[in-house]
Amino acid sequence: MSKKTIKSCYIWDELLMAESDRLPAVAKRASRVQSLIASYSLINKLQVVNSTPALYEDLKLFHSEIYLEHLKTLQKVDDDYVIGIHDEEFGIGYDCQPVSDMYKLVSVIAGGSVAAAKSIILGIADVAINWFGGWHHAQRFCAEGFCYVNDIVICIEKLRLKFKKVLYVDLDVHHGNGVQDAYNLSNSVFTLSIHKYEPGFYPGTGSVDEAGNLTGKGYTCNVPLHESYNDETMEYVFGKVFHKVYDSFKPDAIVVQCGADALAGDPMGGGGLTIKGYCTCVQNILDKQKPTVLLGGGGYNYSNTAKLWASITALVVNVELDQNIPEHDYWPFYGPDYILSIQPLLGRDKNCKADLDNCITKIEDNLKFIIEGETIKHKTDAEKQNQISTYKIFKETLWNRRKKLQFKEKNVLINDESSNNNDVYNFID
Ligand SMILES: [Zn+2]
Repeated sequence: MSKKTIKSCYIWDELLMAESDRLPAVAKRASRVQSLIASYSLINKLQVVNSTPALYEDLKLFHSEIYLEHLKTLQKVDDDYVIGIHDEEFGIGYDCQPVSDMYKLVSVIAGGSVAAAKSIILGIADVAINWFGGWHHAQRFCAEGFCYVNDIVICIEKLRLKFKKVLYVDLDVHHGNGVQDAYNLSNSVFTLSIHKYEPGFYPGTGSVDEAGNLTGKGYTCNVPLHESYNDETMEYVFGKVFHKVYDSFKPDAIVVQCGADALAGDPMGGGGLTIKGYCTCVQNILDKQKPTVLLGGGGYNYSNTAKLWASITALVVNVELDQNIPEHDYWPFYGPDYILSIQPLLGRDKNCKADLDNCITKIEDNLKFIIEGETIKHKTDAEKQNQISTYKIFKETLWNRRKKLQFKEKNVLINDESSNNNDVYNFID
């Protein structure tokens, strides 16, 4: 373990925690996480940075105006609220339940990750921690998979004001589809996601063959794993893949989504990691000594999520935590053993080494599209022409989709392409 002291900060304020507690899929989780971290006196070892709600301009760095305007219409949501057709068009409904003051919720959540990015940009910290962020499924036009705002993309866009190349690493049990989609064509942001990939498991994307397209080809990496993947499997593939990606891409900054739902026993996950597996990955990243933002994400066993994020916080400040959970408001939730460690699964890991090596070989092939941080130059004029026409079709498809949504939402005026120039396809470099 590195003994070097890291200049680190911790994003926290009352409003950010209160709004995070209102997220329906993880109601009151934020308070539990915060209480455990405070009970270990870790906050004293970090510089606490208060966040402010993200500005409309910040949210527009990724999200469409029609989506943001719709969120503003969701003000009073009570038990009698009936989900309308417009809500469903914007992903509000089954997975992403509407809540009151939706726009406020979204801007406060995004504000946490904007504060993390600013802390890095201003040199306040080398490592910024925001356990209230990490909502990797949200798409430009809609909410998805419990995620109403993609604070990660907004954070990365802020970081890009200073850092040319940003590496995104996603440790959540679910594929980081929202972030990957945003940077599908980019060669300035590399997305690496390690996740469970099984038939019927959400979101259904994230195969090893998804490696980015056109100008972004080679700048997306997926490590799909069978369920019950344990620490040994995770440490093996991460050890092999992360360093190869890092050396090929040579990032200037790193953003890590530390979704805790790959922990053994998560009710929605199906992974089999313990705290050790996650911490090994995070330590590998910290050892690179690049400006780094650590974010939260999924995690539906709240006590285990709190244990993991407290442990990663301790890793950053180089403190060894007592295995006995200190007494605090949420202490009864840590019974019956009241200890910090998480037991691994009893069952066998379904991933075999031959499959993992096969996957790593494919990843190495995909990385060959990157040479010294540059995309391979087009070999022939015909090939170049073909890529340009494919890009045009891709852009037209997105533009048509946007216009279709635009016509459905009569109250919003977006008349031409220049009125909102932060489209996903503008992330092409
Ligand atoms: Zn997840």
